[in-house]
Amino acid sequence: MTEATAYLRFMVPAEVGQRSALNRASVPRRMAWDFSTDPEFQEQLDWMATFVREEIWPMETLDLSLAQVKELFLPLQAQVRERGLWAAHLDPELGGQGFGQLKLGLMHEILGTSPLAPFAFGNQAPDSGNSEIIAMAGTQEQKDRYLYPLLNGDIHSAFSMTEPDSAGSDPTLLKTRAVKDGDGWVLNGRKWFTTNGSMADFLIVMAVSDPDARPHPRASVFIVPTDTPGLDIIRDVPTMEHPEERFGFLAGHSEIVYNDVRLGPEALLGAEGAGFLISQQRLYPGRIHHCMRWLGVAQRAFDMLCERSLVRYSHGSLLSEKETVQNWIADSAAQIQAARLMTLHAAWKMDTEGVMAARRDISLIKFFGATVLHDVIDRALQIHGSLGYSTDLPLEQMYRYARAARFYDGPDEVHRASVARQILRTYEAPSDGVPTEHIPTRREAAREKFAWLLDQATAND
Ligand SMILES: Cc1cc2nc3c(=O)[nH]c(=O)nc-3n(C[C@H](O)[C@H](O)[C@H](O)COP(=O)(O)OP(=O)(O)OC[C@H]3O[C@@H](n4cnc5c(N)ncnc54)[C@H](O)[C@@H]3O)c2cc1C
Repeated sequence: MTEATAYLRFMVPAEVGQRSALNRASVPRRMAWDFSTDPEFQEQLDWMATFVREEIWPMETLDLSLAQVKELFLPLQAQVRERGLWAAHLDPELGGQGFGQLKLGLMHEILGTSPLAPFAFGNQAPDSGNSEIIAMAGTQEQKDRYLYPLLNGDIHSAFSMTEPDSAGSDPTLLKTRAVKDGDGWVLNGRKWFTTNGSMADFLIVMAVSDPDARPHPRASVFIVPTDTPGLDIIRDVPTMEHPEERFGFLAGHSEIVYNDVRLGPEALLGAEGAGFLISQQRLYPGRIHHCMRWLGVAQRAFDMLCERSLVRYSHGSLLSEKETVQNWIADSAAQIQAARLMTLHAAWKMDTEGVMAARRDISLIKFFGATVLHDVIDRALQIHGSLGYSTDLPLEQMYRYARAARFYDGPDEVHRASVARQILRTYEAPSDGVPTEHIPTRREAAREKFAWLLDQATAND
């Protein structure tokens, strides 16, 4: 050891020791970084988990009509109200529970395990998001006519934005027009994938009200009762998830023609030109809820994956003893855990700092959550072989459901690009084009910085 290196070894611990003592003094003892759930709310979550598993999962196996579902749900909804869990997404003055996104997220993780469960709790999409924007932007008359009956579960709604003839991933390209007519409006256009459109009592329609405005203030949103003349719900589009032709059922994706639909001034929701602003308010929390619901589905698939591994025997051992299957289990658990923490963190950020502060986190979980959902279901299906592919298990249906998650509410590519843009805003290109971490350049700078020391070492050698 040269004297120079001995000197360094002596110096470094003392400096580090000094610094860490300083740090200890300046860091508060407790930080607001807490992963625990309030015991009273945990009790509610436990109740919800049992309730959904025992009362709602069995319904999934039956081919029920909408009327039958509604009848079965009445006593369940009464229990939910009694527990103070009805319409939890809205503030108490609107008849909700004012839970905030974090509590709602934990709740949606449980409700997401079954497509029917949110109906028992009065917070099914798209009614929940629609009620949020009417609560936020609606007049008293609109609240009386639409919001309160919606909250009560007496009527249903849909959100009609996507069009077959323009890219839904870029709503500045919308074509449906709302033209001023006296003090009212006339709507013309064609929409599709309006979820629940064929069972809805009213639609929230996004249309271009000022084509000459800048892209974002071009559109407005309107509340349109489905029995308005000129509004024609042509069909529910058969999809990968529901390939059979059917009409007027839950989660039908309606194609709708608006042909000279005349609306009074009371149809406008919020300000003219505020369509984007209003729909974004609806989409951001909606994405958190989607991601938590996906985690509920992923966990259900994960449980099936683990259970099957313990009973299926092949090539001299149980599947649970194969390293590949162990990797699937570990990778799935890690992905679920990561997605869950990211989603809850985004929810916490929304609750503490507001929607705009959480935008990047929400984009991150949107595409990451969709991938986790897909991967876990895919492994669960794989381990079940033919059984997984058959309709004797819910996995094939989950798989079809999961596919759409990669592009609705913004395609993965758009969210990735948005995250990358936001991240890149915090970086600068080096003025000389040399990477900041370039070792020869840094070595040169370090030689200059420590010249006194290096010169001393050379002198002593
Ligand atoms: C189950 C389900 C429910 C839905 N519910 C509703 C609803 O209730 N109301 C409603 O209005 N709509 C609804 N939609 C429609 C949904 O919001 C749109 O499908 C979505 O916005 C994408 O629009 P698009 O289908 O027109 O695809 P496009 O905009 O044509 O995009 C197609 C593909 O192009 C690529 N792409 C697009 N932009 C970029 C980019 N910037 N960079 C790289 N690649 C890009 C992506 O791969 C994308 O998947 C629903 C859809 C589904 C599947």
